[in-house]
Amino acid sequence: MHADIVVLPGDGIGPEVATAAVAVLKSIAQLYDHDFQFQEHDIGGVAIDRHGVPLPDATTTACQQADAVLLGAVGGPKWSDPNAKVRPEQGLLAIRKALGLFANLRPVRPHGAALDASPIKPHLLAGVDIVVVRELTGGIYFGEKTRTAEAASDLCSYSVAEIERVMRSAFKLARARRGKVTSVDKANVLETSRLWRDVATRIGREEFPDVALEHQLVDSMAMHLLAKPREYDVIVTENMFGDILTDEASMLAGSLGLLPSASLGEEGKVGLYEPIHGSAPDIAGKGIANPYATILSAAMLLRHSLGLEEEAQAIERAVGAALEDKAFTADLAPPGNALSTTQATEAVLSRLGVP
Ligand code: ATP
Ligand code: MG
Repeated sequence: MHADIVVLPGDGIGPEVATAAVAVLKSIAQLYDHDFQFQEHDIGGVAIDRHGVPLPDATTTACQQADAVLLGAVGGPKWSDPNAKVRPEQGLLAIRKALGLFANLRPVRPHGAALDASPIKPHLLAGVDIVVVRELTGGIYFGEKTRTAEAASDLCSYSVAEIERVMRSAFKLARARRGKVTSVDKANVLETSRLWRDVATRIGREEFPDVALEHQLVDSMAMHLLAKPREYDVIVTENMFGDILTDEASMLAGSLGLLPSASLGEEGKVGLYEPIHGSAPDIAGKGIANPYATILSAAMLLRHSLGLEEEAQAIERAVGAALEDKAFTADLAPPGNALSTTQATEAVLSRLGVP
């Protein structure tokens, strides 16, 4: 198949890990006879330096016309002055908005060989396979804000339509997996959560009667996520709860450098794929970043934007095999025993069957 993929390398280790993922996608194209065309554009700090804005129009237009977008990371100390008018992170919020990306999918699947790196007991982690779906465009992060000398407020609001669309994403995902959705809210206290719960129940009953639905309060979810992570399949929740729970869930997998993500909009619209880690300025330019999170994000791109499930699984198997053989970068390896970003990428390529 033909696909146009826009690559936004961004800042810090972004370009290093994006290069790794593109190399893997090019090998997949060769092995499975696809025609992937790659186009690089600027976002974040590098875009501020070159164009004066964190999201140039050319980048937005290219993303809107692409089949999928692969992003490295944005931000860094060079642009982090709190008084600065333009900040790299604004580029990320703006591109999510421009592409209508409302569902953020974060799979958490601890890999056997990397379990030592997790602070959670290994016997709790074996077999854990969760996808957290976080609502990305509504809730308290986007509500009206007020501030006086004595008080401040942030408005949390959700419309039925906003909840319905992310619910459908979660239910569809669960249907293709183990058939269970856990909807997380704070319905004992918050009105938005009572609406969230009502909509979840109705969508489940009317459109996905074959998928099991349970409701969980966010505070108890925070506990259960660590105490019995194996019980969960798809967890769907609103913006702020999802922000917090996905950072917590990332600890199940051990290293930030292993966790991919997908941000999706309406079906058929372009999706954006990126590692959940940031630009890691402390290790940028050293060639030691773990590329697996971005490579696994490329697998999600093949699955969700291009419908290439077999190819996606081939990448996931190759990364799994590389980890199995302890092809570890410095975040996972014992001191003195680490692979470089390039070597780790080659470890994946060779396990894909590329000579
Ligand atoms: P952001 O605000 O962009 O999320 P952050 O400072 O919160 O950035 P990261 O940039 O993700 O977080 O870095 C957190 C720590 O994890 C750093 O010490 C960084 O070096 C490490 N880290 C992040 N990603 C990787 C990676 N791919 N490989 C190795 N180490 C990583
Ligand atoms: Mg961070």
